[in-house]
Amino acid sequence: MSTAGRFAGKVAVVTGAASGLGRASAVRLAGEGANVVAVDIDTDAVTAVAAELPTRSIAVGGDVSRESDVETYMRAAVDAFGKVDLHHLNAGVFGSFATLPDLDVDDFERVMAVNVRGPLLGLRAAFRHWRTSGERGTIALTASIASLTGAADLVPYQVSKHAVTGLVRSAAVYGGPLGIRVNGVAPGIVPTELFRNAASATGGKNDMSRRASTAPLRRAGKAEEIAGVVSFLLSDDSSYLTGQLVAADGGASVVNTVRP
Ligand code: NAD
Repeated sequence: MSTAGRFAGKVAVVTGAASGLGRASAVRLAGEGANVVAVDIDTDAVTAVAAELPTRSIAVGGDVSRESDVETYMRAAVDAFGKVDLHHLNAGVFGSFATLPDLDVDDFERVMAVNVRGPLLGLRAAFRHWRTSGERGTIALTASIASLTGAADLVPYQVSKHAVTGLVRSAAVYGGPLGIRVNGVAPGIVPTELFRNAASATGGKNDMSRRASTAPLRRAGKAEEIAGVVSFLLSDDSSYLTGQLVAADGGASVVNTVRP
């Protein structure tokens, strides 16, 4: 069934929209008719993305971990389009690789600020907007396969993405009675800038194509495939889904690794 035009007349705010999964989400939602407010700390890159979208869309430069920047992008959305219907809280960073004895606490704080404080502020801003306007909307967060697993050398990222699960579930419990749904997508390996940087930070030890090839689907994902899940979660096709994480990981998270 065609999904073309299903977001016509809707306003979608996407964070981390300059690159990777956020860019693909902005392209997908605009392709389905939404006016997009593309938010990113990289103002030039996000301005270029917004300019390429097929619907009237705007770019807002800002750091999702800063309260004032989050207020600014919500205000910009309302000023430009009068409302917000859909919010994809996606911006995230990976942090450094280190095992616990060598953990850099500043790195931990930075990862938590972007990956947890960012979506927390975004959720608060969206709920405040809908409380004031009397409207309602739908939210998707980008979690990760790291929301479901542990990793010896990537503790800040793992912890931050587990916290995203808590945000999804808590916001869903609050939002449900108000008619506001909140879900998360948990991507596996998708070769974006974030993953390429991670691979080079480990001197090639983080070989994503080898790791992706161990998933049941035997390949890495594409940003467009994750955007398809986001679009589903933000659409009425998922109208009875809230508080869920959808693992879009080629099946990696369902493999029993302790089988004898
Ligand atoms: P990416 O690096 O390509 O894109 C991330 C974007 O977020 C960039 O444009 C960056 O400028 C922006 N950003 C970073 N910090 C920001 C901040 N403080 N404020 C505003 N924008 C900021 O990476 P990606 O792979 O597209 O990652 C997007 C999300 O997907 C992240 O939350 C990441 O944790 C998650 N994720 C990615 C993968 C993967 O395999 N690529 C897997 C699981 C989860």
